[in-house]
Amino acid sequence: MQIQFHGAVRTVTGSQHLLTINGHRILLDCGLYQGSRKESYRRNQNLPFDAASIDKVILSHAHIDHSGNLPNLVKSGFKGDIICTYPTRDLCAIMLRDSAKIQGYDIQYLNKKRARHNLPPVEPIYDMEDAVDSLKQFVGIGYNRPFQIFPGIYLTFYDAGHILGSAITVLDIEEEETKQSRRLVFSGDLGRPNRPILNDPSPIDSADILLIESTYGNREHPDLDEASDKLETIINSTCKQGGKVIVPAFAVGRTQELVYRIHKLVDARDISPDLPIYVDSPLAIDATSIYRLHPEAYDEEVARFLLESHTGDPFGFAMMQYTRSTAQSKALNHLRQPAVIISASGMAEAGRILHHLKNNIEDPRNTVLIVGWQAPHTLGRRLVEEEPEVKIFGERYQLKAQVSTINGFSAHADRSELLEWAGGIKTPPQHTFIVHGEEGSSFALADALNKNLGFENVSVPEMGQTFHI
Ligand SMILES: [Zn+2]
Repeated sequence: MQIQFHGAVRTVTGSQHLLTINGHRILLDCGLYQGSRKESYRRNQNLPFDAASIDKVILSHAHIDHSGNLPNLVKSGFKGDIICTYPTRDLCAIMLRDSAKIQGYDIQYLNKKRARHNLPPVEPIYDMEDAVDSLKQFVGIGYNRPFQIFPGIYLTFYDAGHILGSAITVLDIEEEETKQSRRLVFSGDLGRPNRPILNDPSPIDSADILLIESTYGNREHPDLDEASDKLETIINSTCKQGGKVIVPAFAVGRTQELVYRIHKLVDARDISPDLPIYVDSPLAIDATSIYRLHPEAYDEEVARFLLESHTGDPFGFAMMQYTRSTAQSKALNHLRQPAVIISASGMAEAGRILHHLKNNIEDPRNTVLIVGWQAPHTLGRRLVEEEPEVKIFGERYQLKAQVSTINGFSAHADRSELLEWAGGIKTPPQHTFIVHGEEGSSFALADALNKNLGFENVSVPEMGQTFHI
């Protein structure tokens, strides 16, 4: 067996791990690398392997850093199945098209710049048609259903509890050459236990070869209940002073979690049932419909909540409004009463959130609520750091609104939670590979797996590195 690491090693984006088992080439994830524009374009455009030589793709979940380069893979000659869970397939139907759209805008901007320097225009990595074409190769399977992908190779997905449809990939392999039976486990992105809507990450009790994520390999998250209490306090105090709460949030996952938490607060009368709540993002609205389509993926708490709630919808209640059209979105600019507006993008780099920030950050009664990690150099990060003046659409605005941050909403297991999950594996794996983390986090987790759990043979692979195991 051979494993080659082509992305999300010593970094968190561009997940692509290529397995060669019994002569079959299986790609785990085919994500987009997200970094500086030039570097991203070069890395994503040039696949590090011959696309036509790949037999199958196994996709852990729909996040773009795991799925986003599939249209390019298909466009470059990949003809096989892309196997994932049903919700992942449905989320990809909106996310890959959205990704094609964003790349279209990006390339337009880039080509304008190139034209000024008399350089020829460049092509987008893929377009809408490529995104739609790639969807034709998806094959959905349910959790906990062993599925033979090649003779002697069985795939089972277990719930990873990270976003809707996210999966831990387990491959039970009968190796032809050695006649050995071995189990390879790829954690994908692992969620946190006790998060709303989603199940806890499934425990896995055996693995001979383990690939484990390490986003928070060196950090612990605050308590989840603390996060909900903080949400209640921020909404109530802002409304009391007549202000609005503006929340930049990722359209898939974070928005649905926020809406559900607010729904619970409203039902418990912890916040006023008369307070209007808006989700102003077409992508988030589409993603919410997909969340509604997959009750089989909900945890017990939501199932119970649905029985008790009068709306029968975790994402809908009297004052909850989804604004899809541009006219509806623009109407929010004239809103004078307290409200909560949740909009994308999550790091306030693009999308409708920019309009809401522009219209609201100069009013000290308002609060900008940050609910996710903000990358350096983004507007979101500037707001977290409370820069007194920020640029939006090229204009300068004074930051007079309050900025509050809730850190507890992370969709990734923290250090203790990663160790606890890995500790469920009864006999230490023969080989462990640490992926999906910045270098510091990956090495910290490698060290802890070795010292705390007795895992030997733990590697933090480098980009392009191949292991024969
Ligand atoms: Zn993810």
